[in-house]
Amino acid sequence: MCLRLKKNSRKEILRFRGSFFSFFLLFLIAAIVLARWDAVIVLERAEVHMNTLTSISVEAPRKTAEKALDGSFALLRELNGRLSRYAEASDISKVNASAGIAPVKVAPETWELLRNALTLSEATDGYFDPTIGPLTDLWRILSKEGNGSLSEKEIAAARDLVDYRSLSLVSPDWVFLRSRGAALDLGAVAKGYAADRVADYCKALGVRSGLLDLGGNILVWGSRKRPWRIGIRHPLEGRDSTACVLEFDLAPDQTMSVVTSGSYERFREVGGKKLSHIFNPHTGVPIETSLLSVSVVDPCSAKADALATAFLVMGEEKARETLRRFPGTEAVFIHHNGEKIVVSKNQEVTNP
Ligand code: ADP
Ligand code: MG
Repeated sequence: MCLRLKKNSRKEILRFRGSFFSFFLLFLIAAIVLARWDAVIVLERAEVHMNTLTSISVEAPRKTAEKALDGSFALLRELNGRLSRYAEASDISKVNASAGIAPVKVAPETWELLRNALTLSEATDGYFDPTIGPLTDLWRILSKEGNGSLSEKEIAAARDLVDYRSLSLVSPDWVFLRSRGAALDLGAVAKGYAADRVADYCKALGVRSGLLDLGGNILVWGSRKRPWRIGIRHPLEGRDSTACVLEFDLAPDQTMSVVTSGSYERFREVGGKKLSHIFNPHTGVPIETSLLSVSVVDPCSAKADALATAFLVMGEEKARETLRRFPGTEAVFIHHNGEKIVVSKNQEVTNP
């Protein structure tokens, strides 16, 4: 028996086929759009924060990556507002305004940062000192009207106010600078701290890997197909030149930071002499050192930042000795031997 379709039902089948195909096409397009939307991409953006060009690159699905970049730059603004001594309402400005007068309550995160900073001051015999404020104010190396000729008396007066032991931290969250005229200045640790916080934020959003560059403070996290390669700048040549390259193969949950301190970029020239913006807290004067730069490698960027500054101030020999107190932390020293630059890592000289 042969079943014949009526004319009407044939039309219906054709109509059904037509709508099935349009539906299928729509579904296909939606699936492709969704797949692309969800595909992992690398997104990068640069803005000026904390007085420095900051670039952030994240690897994540587009929506997450965009959220991570927006949120990271917002977080940097917030951290600057809390930690800069030049922001009137910051925790640091409030502590400085009440120095020698009364303790001040700060955000728990600020308190924690100051506690860690004090530990690093102790471990570096005060070569890193977050109470360096009176010296930065006196020398004003980074401002236009910076001074080069100061009397010994002036220098001694400012130096005597610099002492991390005059900073009292009373739990929970109270901070007191005991001497009038003393002042906190977190310039040597704030960028590293900010890098740690931004990385934490991105990781919590699910960003699988990323790279932060806060004016030479580098932090990377997560695994990639190829190892991470971080170049250390040649201190006597242009911005894009590298003196050596460090390679890291990180596990998905690992983080590494490389922070460099040098006197070659930020200084003031007075009478043919280059005055550094980094001071020896024990003498009160800008550092004069044969070291061109020190880079510190550690998973914690705040620690690497503070140590890079301290090592540059104390000089290579003492820095190598001090490094022994920090198992797991590495350092790359670059100095000039009269003919060429010498790069040495930890104890060994890699390219004499
Ligand atoms: P940069 O800010 O150029 O990356 P550093 O991390 O070494 O370099 O920080 C330098 C800043 O730290 C200075 O501008 C000043 O605010 C502050 N500072 C200078 N000397 C010291 C010191 N011995 N200990 C702590 N902070 C310092
Ligand atoms: Mg530093």
